[in-house]
Amino acid sequence: APPQRGRGRFAPSPTGPLHFGSLLAAFGSWLLARHAGAEWWVRVEDLDPPREQSGAIDRQLRTLEAFGLVSDGPILRQSSRDAAYRTALDRLLAEGAAFECWCSRADLLATGSVHHACLSGPTEGRTPAIRLRIPRGAIIGFDDAIQGRIVQDVGTEVGDVVLRRADGYWAYQLAVVVDDAAQGITQVVRGADLLDSTPRQVFLQRALGLPTPDYAHLPLVVDHEGRKLSKSLSALPIDDADPLPALRAAWRAMGQDPAALAQVADVPSALDAARAAFVPDWIPSGSVALHNTGVAIA
Ligand code: GLU
Repeated sequence: APPQRGRGRFAPSPTGPLHFGSLLAAFGSWLLARHAGAEWWVRVEDLDPPREQSGAIDRQLRTLEAFGLVSDGPILRQSSRDAAYRTALDRLLAEGAAFECWCSRADLLATGSVHHACLSGPTEGRTPAIRLRIPRGAIIGFDDAIQGRIVQDVGTEVGDVVLRRADGYWAYQLAVVVDDAAQGITQVVRGADLLDSTPRQVFLQRALGLPTPDYAHLPLVVDHEGRKLSKSLSALPIDDADPLPALRAAWRAMGQDPAALAQVADVPSALDAARAAFVPDWIPSGSVALHNTGVAIA
């Protein structure tokens, strides 16, 4: 059960070193948790071995430590959660809420619809994906603490969500819903790039009889022309040996008063000062340009 004051989390995928966008999610989720008097837990989302970089988990955890962001609870690795995902999937299959699907991306495109019955049927030598059935008219709304009211017609805009991929790996959507509930997470704070995934996660929570946490989606960091950061910019690793500049930049990106962190000399005092001065209402909903945060761009 979650503690009375709640529990937040930061859930990076170990696809590379933490970059500025991930630091923003880590620091932002930590600040909002502390502001609520809540715990803050780290979870490793190592679900997708082909996309993972060896050594990335340890490196990410070292970076978090250098930034003073240390999990209040045990660090769960999704690679160890097979049985829990299996149980959830079996329940959905048994209830007819999920189904096997042999359709390729091209098959789906050809039907001209995101919503489908699996038309191709069993295909020899291929393992099916397992999808969650999303009926037409499934409209999901929730109140995001930063982005406001979000409503999505999941039935027509998203369609039947993959829970287990055809290659046998668990899909992020299933794992995140099962683990947020299993870990008693009450507060999900992450980048706005995931805003679009939230309604389908809420739908899945309801299908599994799980509670819906509070959500806050932090602004995206963009380049000087307002575009999504290029590979090279978004991959810009942050410097473990010199954390204060990136911490100050993340603080500014969240609309906070730069003066609060101007005088601090080390990470613990920066975090103390940030905690004391933090005003959640100042976090902007719209994108933040990297060059306005004071991050040094080589
Ligand atoms: N593992 C996801 C990512 O790194 C984040 C998942 C989440 O916060 O829900 O993009």
